[in-house]
Amino acid sequence: MNPAAWQSLEERMRELADLWRTSALLSWDQQTMMPPRGAEGRARATATLRVISHQRLVAPELGELLEEAAGDSLDPSRAAMVRVLRRERDQAVRLPDEFVRRLALASSRGQAVWQAARRDRDWESFRPCVEEMVELKREQADMLGHDGERYDALLDLYEPGMRTERVERVFAELASDLAVLIQAIADAPPLPEPPFAGSTFPDALQWDVTIRMLADIGFDFDAGRQDRSAHPFTTTIALHDIRLTTRIDESDPFSAFCSTLHEAGHGLYDQGFDPDYEDTPIAQAPSLGLHESQSRLWENLVGRSRPFWCRYTPVMHEVFGDAMRGAGPEEVYRQVNRVTPSLIRVEADEVTYNMHILVRFELELALLRGELAPADLPGAWNDAYRRRLGVTSPHVGDGVLQDVHWSTGAFGYFPTYTIGNLYSAILWRQIRQDLADVEGQVEAGEFEPLLGWLRERIHRPGYLHEGEDLIRQVTGSGLDHQPFMAYLWAKYGDLYDVRRSA
Ligand code: ZN
Repeated sequence: MNPAAWQSLEERMRELADLWRTSALLSWDQQTMMPPRGAEGRARATATLRVISHQRLVAPELGELLEEAAGDSLDPSRAAMVRVLRRERDQAVRLPDEFVRRLALASSRGQAVWQAARRDRDWESFRPCVEEMVELKREQADMLGHDGERYDALLDLYEPGMRTERVERVFAELASDLAVLIQAIADAPPLPEPPFAGSTFPDALQWDVTIRMLADIGFDFDAGRQDRSAHPFTTTIALHDIRLTTRIDESDPFSAFCSTLHEAGHGLYDQGFDPDYEDTPIAQAPSLGLHESQSRLWENLVGRSRPFWCRYTPVMHEVFGDAMRGAGPEEVYRQVNRVTPSLIRVEADEVTYNMHILVRFELELALLRGELAPADLPGAWNDAYRRRLGVTSPHVGDGVLQDVHWSTGAFGYFPTYTIGNLYSAILWRQIRQDLADVEGQVEAGEFEPLLGWLRERIHRPGYLHEGEDLIRQVTGSGLDHQPFMAYLWAKYGDLYDVRRSA
C-alpha cells in the first residue's frame, strides 16, 4: 500500500474516532447533567450522529482502502487496525441507515422511559419499550447473520468470537459450583456486625477518600475526572479524557469506595493504551469481558482484600474519626466481604454476583429465542430470583426494572460481566506468580508494580489481539471458571470457616 493511501485510511480512522468521541460525550452528559426534558432533543442528536458515523463507516471508498491494505504485508499494529476496522465495517454494511436511526432513537427514548418507570415502579409503562427493542434486536441479529441462534450475533458485538453455546456451558458449571459455596455460607454462622454499623459517613468526606484512592492507584487526573451519577459508569471520550462516576451513600461508605475502584479499573485501562494507537480502532479493549476484568480486579481482588484494608482502615480513622471507633482492618475486611443473597445486582457481593448475571442471561436468551414474551418478564424474573438466590423483590423497581441495559437494547451485554469476573481471577493468579509480594505492596500503598504489570501486558496492546488470545498469551489459560472458584473458596472458606468437600 503506498504511503498516500495509508494516510488516507488514517484520516478516515481519525474522523470515525472523532465522531465516536462526540457521541460518547453526548451520552456522558445525558447520564450526568442533562435535565429530563432534554431527552427527546438528545435522542435525535444522538441518532443523527450515529447515522453519520454509520455512513462514514460503510462508505465504498473506505471499503476499497481496507481491501487494498488487507492484501499488503503490514506490521502487526497496522494489520490489527485493518482487521478490526474491516470487522466493524462488515457488520455495519449489513444494517441500512434507516435501521441504525430507528435503533438509536429507540435506545435513547427507551432509556428515558426506563428512568421514569423505575422511579415509579411501573412495569406497564416500560413494557412497550421492551417489546419494541426485542423486535429490533431480533431484526438486527437476522441482518448481521447467525446460524440459527440470534443471540450469537448480538453477543459478538460485545465479546467478539464468543458463542452462546460456550457461554451456556461455562455458566452452567459456574452456577452449580457457586450454588455449593452459597449454601455452605448460608449454613455457616453470619459474620458479626461491625462496630461502625449505624454510623454516618459524611458525603463530602467520602468524596475526598474516593479521590485519594484514585490518585493512590495511579488514575491520572490530568487525563480524567470523577463526577456523580445514579448508576456509576465510565465513559472514554479520548485517551486523555476519561470520565468516571460514583455515587455516595452516607450510611455505607464502602459502596462508594468499591464503585470508584470498579470504575477506576475501567478508566486505568483506557488511559493505558499505547499512545501510538490513538485515533485508530485498536485504541480500545478487544472485548467487554476483558474490560470488566480490569474493573473487577481493582474492585474485588484489590479493593476487597485484607492488605487493601490494612492500608485504608487507618485512613478511614483519620477522615471519619468517631464513626470508625473500635474498628480495625479485620472488621472492615469482613464488612466489605459479607455474603448475602440480595435483590440488586450492582450491590451484590462477589459470591452471589454471578447468579444475578445468570438470571439475566437466561431471560434475554429466552426473549431472543422467542421462548419468553416480554409481557411475562416480571414473573419470569421473580421465578428465576427465587430459584437462583432464594429472594423475591417486593416491587418491579428492585426487580425486573433495576438495570438500564434492556432499555438501550444492550442484549448480549450481561454475560461480559461474568466473563470479566472469570478473567480477573485468571489474571490475579498470574499476577501473584509474577509479583510475589503484590499483597505486601498493596498493604504498603505501592500500586505501581501492579499497575505496571497490567499496563505492559493488558492495557498497552489495546485491540492488537482478540480478548481471549491475549489472556491466553499472558496467563496460559483461556476462559475457565475454576480459577475464580478456587479464589472464592480460599477467601470465603477462611472468612466463613467453610471447606469445599471432595
Ligand atoms: Zn464495569
